[in-house]
Amino acid sequence: MKFNTKAIHGGQHHEKVTGAVMPPVFQTSTFAQSSPGKPIGEYEYSRAANPTRTALEDALASIENGTRGLAFSSGLAATDCVLRSFKAGDEIIAMDDLYGGTYRMFTRIYKDSGIKFHFVDMNDSAKFQSLINENTKLVWVETPTNPLMKLADIAAIAKITKEKNILFAVDNTFATPYLQRPLDLGADIVMHSATKYLGGHSDVIAGALVVKDSALGEQLHFQQFATGGTLGPMDSYLVLRGIKTLHLRMQRHCENGEKVVDFLKNHPKIGKVFFPGLPEHPFHEIAKKQMSGFGGMVSFNFKSGAKADAISFLEKLKVFTLAESLGGVESLANHPALMTHASIPEDKRIEIGITDDLVRLSVGIEDAEDLMADLRQALA
Ligand SMILES: *Cc1c(COP(=O)(O)O)cnc(C)c1O
Repeated sequence: MKFNTKAIHGGQHHEKVTGAVMPPVFQTSTFAQSSPGKPIGEYEYSRAANPTRTALEDALASIENGTRGLAFSSGLAATDCVLRSFKAGDEIIAMDDLYGGTYRMFTRIYKDSGIKFHFVDMNDSAKFQSLINENTKLVWVETPTNPLMKLADIAAIAKITKEKNILFAVDNTFATPYLQRPLDLGADIVMHSATKYLGGHSDVIAGALVVKDSALGEQLHFQQFATGGTLGPMDSYLVLRGIKTLHLRMQRHCENGEKVVDFLKNHPKIGKVFFPGLPEHPFHEIAKKQMSGFGGMVSFNFKSGAKADAISFLEKLKVFTLAESLGGVESLANHPALMTHASIPEDKRIEIGITDDLVRLSVGIEDAEDLMADLRQALA
């Protein structure tokens, strides 16, 4: 099955009793048993499994070319589930440009657990490999990153982690499986904030993990079941509904992203534009190799370097909404330093390039002319 068909049919079947084409929202916590320990159907208790969530999890596995999908109450709950596999003495190597909440979890929640974290530029392969030792258990990468659109070469990292028997997880939130499929490139775990493109309509907080290896899938499911960060039936339904148009939305996000980038590149007030589709982007070659398009996330700064310019621009936007989050049908704008990445200490922020004049756009699927007109008036 090709991707566009999988987005609609992957892992799906008509509901058994009524033939309903979309799975009903099985809004139930528990399922009847005919005799103690003998449930009437396949389900017992919705923390362990719920039919609406199963439908979503099967769709997730299908679109990422995995064998097992797990749906969580948020992207961070999905990440937390992976982190629970490790113990004091273990070491984790993570990319040095991560979603703020992921960085906060690693450095503030897990810092006293005895797990040692290394944050490294994944493109400095010598540095990365020098950090690997017998305690290294996990490599965590986000590509493209938020908000600077740095990339990591998934296949190259997978080659190293496979050799050394280290788990390799990729946060695929920005690219989505429409543009990039990390499991096919050798990663062990794909993580998503399904809040973003998979859900696609800014109406749900959700997370996902997908794996190819069934034993790893069992282990992660046990951790999820035992700690409880599962996605409810209504939210599972919403994400599943979102996935059915993922390919159409992503196609338009990519088209509009290119147009907005073209506009920004030619505007006299704009400094640097961060977008993996630009030939001068430092990771453009990796993007061409592992992604089938460049997405709708664009960051830029101002020639003036002034925070005031960024703020005045953001206040004047009318079609773009100033809000955290991304990946919905509507265009959003964000000031990383004051909003999504405020949890990163200032010196660290500046060091990685999240300056006070940096703006991040999530280009939606509106008419591109209206989006460009809005940017033009806000920059005037
Ligand atoms: C939003 C986001 C997360 C966290 O997901 P939540 O659903 O907000 O918990 C993780 N990674 C990336 C890249 C994100 O954009």
